Amino acid sequence: MTTTAVMPGNVPAGALPPDAAPLEARAVSAWFGERKVLDRVSLHMPAGSVTALIGPSGCGKSTFLRILNRMHELVPGATLAGEVLLDGADIYHHDRRLTEVRRRIGMVFQKPNPFPAMSIYENVTAGLKLTATRISRGDRDDLVEQCLTKAGLWNEVHDRLRQPGSALSGGQQQRLCIARALAVRPQVLLMDEPCSALDPTSTRRVEETIRELAAEVTIVIVTHNMQQAQRVSEHCAFFLAEQNTPGHIVEQGLTQRMFHRPRDPRTEDYVNGRF
Ligand code: ADP
Ligand code: MG
Repeated sequence: MTTTAVMPGNVPAGALPPDAAPLEARAVSAWFGERKVLDRVSLHMPAGSVTALIGPSGCGKSTFLRILNRMHELVPGATLAGEVLLDGADIYHHDRRLTEVRRRIGMVFQKPNPFPAMSIYENVTAGLKLTATRISRGDRDDLVEQCLTKAGLWNEVHDRLRQPGSALSGGQQQRLCIARALAVRPQVLLMDEPCSALDPTSTRRVEETIRELAAEVTIVIVTHNMQQAQRVSEHCAFFLAEQNTPGHIVEQGLTQRMFHRPRDPRTEDYVNGRF
C-alpha cells in the first residue's frame, strides 16, 4: 500500500503532478434573472490551504462555489460579473477551455453521488477522459490505489474494487467521490457541505482526509458546522445577505482570529450561534 505523498517521481506516467494553485475571486457579483444574489465578493484562497465559507442559508455560498468552477453558467438565466483567477489567470477568459477549468477545479457535493451503475474502480477513473493523456492499465491501477489511499478509503475497499460504489456506506461514498475528484489531479477542490449528510464518525474521517489533502490541493469548503470550520480551515469568509440585499462577505481572515477575535459584531453573533 502506498502512503507516501505523491511526488513527481511516483506519479503514474501520463498523469500530471499535483500542484495546488491559489484561487482568487475579484468583485464577483451574481444574478439569477433579475435577482442579484452576490455583490462584489472578493476573496483570496491561498494555495495548499483550506478556506471555509460560512454564513446562514441563502446568502450565496453555493452560488459562489459554483462560480469558482464555472458551474453557475449552467443555470438558465444565471449571469455574473467579476473575475476568478486560478494561478493568476482568469478562468472566464474566452481562451480557456471549459473542460480544462473543470479538471483543474474539482467539486464534491453535499450528497455523496457516486455513479450508481459503476464499480468503485470505475468511479475513480470516470473523470480520466477529461485528461487528454491515455494511461496504461497498470498506471490506472496505481492511480486508483493512490486516490483511494488519499481519500482514506483504500484499506476498506481494496478487496472489492469491482463492487458498485453505491453499495458503500454514506461516508465511504463521500470519500469515493473525493477519490474520483482527485483522479484528474485537480489544483483546487471545492466542497459544498461535504459532511452534512454524514454521521459524526464519517464526518471526522472526511475531515481527516481534508486536512491530509490540504498540502497538495487548495480546498474551499462550505460548512454550517462552526467546529468543523475551526478544525479544518486556516482561512475563513463570513457571508451574509441582510434584509433581501445580495449576499456579500462581512468579514474574512484567519479562522482562529475570526472565531476568537471577530471584528464585526455580526460575525461574533454568527460564530457564537446567535443567528
Ligand atoms: P447558500 O448556499 O448560502 O444557502 P445559495 O447560493 O444556494 O445560498 O442561494 C443564494 C440565493 O440564490 C438564494 O436566495 C437562492 O434562493 C437563490 N438561488 C440559488 N439557486 C438558484 C437558482 N437555480 N435559480 C434561482 N435562484 C437561485
Ligand atoms: Mg448552499
